[in-house]
Amino acid sequence: MKFRLKLFSLFLILIMLISGCAIQKEAAPVLKLDEVDARSFYSIDAELNVEEKTLTAVQEVDYYNNDNIEMKELYFHVYPNAFKRKETAPFLFDDFDTAYKRGFEPGYGEILSVSNRDRSGEKLLKHSLSGEGDTILKVELDSPIKPYERTNLQIKFMLKIPPAGERFGYGENNFNLGNWYPIAAVYDEKDGWNLDKYFAIGDPFYSDAADYKVSIKTPESYTIAASGQLKEENKENGKIQRTYEGKALRDFAFVANNKFVVLEEDVEGIKVMSYYYEGDNIRGEEALEIGVQSIKLFNKLYGKYPYPVYSVVQTEFPSGMEYPALVYISDKYYKPNYSSDPLIITIVHETAHQWFYGIVGNDQIDEAWLDEGFAAYSETIFAERTYGKKTGEDYYKRTVENSVKEAMSSRSIDGGVLKTLSEFKDWSDYGPTAYDRGAQIHNELRKMLGDDTFLKIVRTYVEKYKFRIATTDDFIKVCEEVSGKDLTEFFKPWIVGGE
Ligand SMILES: [Zn+2]
Repeated sequence: MKFRLKLFSLFLILIMLISGCAIQKEAAPVLKLDEVDARSFYSIDAELNVEEKTLTAVQEVDYYNNDNIEMKELYFHVYPNAFKRKETAPFLFDDFDTAYKRGFEPGYGEILSVSNRDRSGEKLLKHSLSGEGDTILKVELDSPIKPYERTNLQIKFMLKIPPAGERFGYGENNFNLGNWYPIAAVYDEKDGWNLDKYFAIGDPFYSDAADYKVSIKTPESYTIAASGQLKEENKENGKIQRTYEGKALRDFAFVANNKFVVLEEDVEGIKVMSYYYEGDNIRGEEALEIGVQSIKLFNKLYGKYPYPVYSVVQTEFPSGMEYPALVYISDKYYKPNYSSDPLIITIVHETAHQWFYGIVGNDQIDEAWLDEGFAAYSETIFAERTYGKKTGEDYYKRTVENSVKEAMSSRSIDGGVLKTLSEFKDWSDYGPTAYDRGAQIHNELRKMLGDDTFLKIVRTYVEKYKFRIATTDDFIKVCEEVSGKDLTEFFKPWIVGGE
């Protein structure tokens, strides 16, 4: 996600962006979607009721056990339940009134049934909700899943969508469906099952990449921006059912809106799309150009974006939010009273997340700096490559450096980035740590090792962990392998703090 925007007057020369003069084309290594580990497969059949603000769905999960343990039960996150009570509803930047400008109403997910099919037919499975706000679904399996084997589940559920300008919520014309379906929790060596609550700070999500087929039925007047590629459309009785597919996606989100205008441009085989509200065409066109420029630049620097589509979506949201192949961008940044800068910075940041969070996953609860540091530093890299070295340096100084200095002198942070979300007091503590201190690590590494080695590290990290999950230790190992240096002493103050 994009944390805060302090400087709206840095990217002055928009014309350069529109004419696209700064970026040279170069062949990038191609990531292949099929050349990776086996994955789970989600097939979801959903219908959105725009009057009732509900969604009903049947979700089939072909679950793949990618760990060397026998699983007797499975866990899923039911994030919509966090929106059930005013006290636990996650809204960004501690700003309740902006998130719920129409007043609070509960949103939630109701699990109607969980079943499993075997030779003897369909069997209902015991299941229960637990965790803060009932956001964890536990499913008891009839027979355990052996390591590297599969099982199938069918989960029927319904959602009540809250009136919130949030990841999950509806606004005047939009329905934001982020973190909306039961998504399998991650089992890892360090924590076992990761059953964290929906923290109010950060992007508190952690998931394995999976394959998706998602059908969404809405009234015909609604346009949809989704994480997958549109494969089929069927119209019947004033409704339209669209089917999307996507491989190796970390999650699947969509936004439905009956006032969307859609633009698209093909970039190196990737369809980049801009979805914006009728009337906001100036910024809507700019959003497409920034999406195109960012994809081109990061293709070249980090390795090619592996998915066929990328959508930049204007919606009711406080800033920007990354989902695989789709990003939410605050509708206010499209309005004429804002300069272009928040729009540019936010799109660049969320596009960088496609690589760091999306392609390479990480535990965003325990190691948020790992994706936010890269996304934040990518803003500087974009500024530098697009508008020149001086603009990049100024941007870095005025955002990253100043923010860290301020936060460290007021002792709101100790400098160590490796903290779990529960260790942060609030955004004033989390922001400068995960984003800015994270970006500083990359800047210092780059200064020490040089541009070529730094970029080789980033590319190697992406290539090695694409569609998988990386940890801070994995990143440090890549840094050491590529540079040929022991970096233990370098990383110590950045990771544990107390510099
Ligand atoms: Zn971010």
